[in-house]
Amino acid sequence: MTTRTRFAPSPTGYLHVGGARTALFSWLHARKHGGAFILRIEDTDLERSTPESVNAILEGMTWLGLEYDEGPLYQTKRFDRYNEVIDELMKKGLAYRCDCSRERLDTLRRTAMARKEKPRYDGHCRDLDINPDTPHVIRFLNPDDGVVVVDDMVRGRVAFSNTELDDLIIRRTDGSPTYNLTVVVDDSDMNITDVIRGDDHLNNTPRQVNILKALNKEIPRYAHLPMILGDDGARLSKRHGAVSVMQYMEQGILPEALLNYLVRLGWSHGDQEVFSQEELIQLFDINDVNKSASSFNTEKLLWLNQHYIKEADPLHLAHLLSPHLGRMGIDPTDGPDLVEVVKAQQERAKTLVEMAEISEFIYQDFEEFDEKAAKKNLRPVAREPLETIKQALEELESWDEGSLHDCVEKVSASLDLKMGKVAQPLRVAIVGRAASPGIDVTLKLVGKEATLRRIDKALEYIAKREAQL
Ligand code: GLU
Repeated sequence: MTTRTRFAPSPTGYLHVGGARTALFSWLHARKHGGAFILRIEDTDLERSTPESVNAILEGMTWLGLEYDEGPLYQTKRFDRYNEVIDELMKKGLAYRCDCSRERLDTLRRTAMARKEKPRYDGHCRDLDINPDTPHVIRFLNPDDGVVVVDDMVRGRVAFSNTELDDLIIRRTDGSPTYNLTVVVDDSDMNITDVIRGDDHLNNTPRQVNILKALNKEIPRYAHLPMILGDDGARLSKRHGAVSVMQYMEQGILPEALLNYLVRLGWSHGDQEVFSQEELIQLFDINDVNKSASSFNTEKLLWLNQHYIKEADPLHLAHLLSPHLGRMGIDPTDGPDLVEVVKAQQERAKTLVEMAEISEFIYQDFEEFDEKAAKKNLRPVAREPLETIKQALEELESWDEGSLHDCVEKVSASLDLKMGKVAQPLRVAIVGRAASPGIDVTLKLVGKEATLRRIDKALEYIAKREAQL
């Protein structure tokens, strides 16, 4: 049978790192086996589900490039189907109406707890044939004995005793179906062969298996993925910093870097750290996923991000960089070709935010010199080199890298100075800081007019210093 996997988020928040990893593993598993990956939105909790959250999930998936073959399918559109299945279970005598009061259920729970037992429903209404006109829930008739064995692709064999499970509510008093029922109906109707999800759902699995058996449906294979922890060993949460996928986008992480990072949370191939998408599809095996929790390590993500920035196609990077410049109030069309900017900065930034920041000088004059850089480089001795280079640049006819390089070299030679003695004050003059790409590229990107204007500003700064001496 063709492999079919799904990602089934509840739209009650953004797409977080854990969800994204679940989606990635399901996607990889489907791709590896030439199967289909389906997106299902589990929006039956009407109070907590929001359209904004659906959009945030779709946006996150698109940004990560986790394209789905079917969906998004919405559970709220399938209530008729769920009711049909509940009716079928009723007809077969595998589900029953229950009108136990809250008080009765509370007493049951308290008694069990006092006996240090797990609270479970006692089957009181099983044979009572409750009048359908009184308010009631519908419960699934769980087998009383036997074990449910799940050969989990990650956890190995896990056995659950039916005595531990109780008669689960599958339809609430208000008529809405519950999570375990909808999942079972959907996984079965959508012919899901492999259910890959977080291990917080492991305890639901025997219940779902029992319902599938009652319906005479195929049982899918399961893989329950271990938790992701923060660097302090606690479950990854907001207080560890960014947990939403789109927050990483905002911080200037490349989608390919985040994907590569996520895949290593629980899966490895020898000590290889960097994987192309093709390699992942070829090498990934859900059976190799680690049972134990993995820790999120921001340093490593940044390391990978820097790697991907260095290796990226400049045009691709330019597209990704553009919104970050926009957020700083810079219109990237208002300057040199963005691809040239990217090529100049590609080796110099760990994130796109950083790349945008170190490129600001290309688009606008800076307010103030970096104090340390100015103190060191814009001293009275730099006045003559700056005046001379300014004049030479003014007279320069062609503003290309070769001519600019020659110009700096010639001026240095004429003053009998090493090139750095001219280039470094010049850099601080036009960038405001001590670091930038090569001086020829820097000059080229800033352009003639701004260069001359900024040299003047640096000369004023030097003059002020001279006056203070
Ligand atoms: N909707 C569930 C969640 O977001 C996932 C259900 C499943 O994968 O079976 O946690």
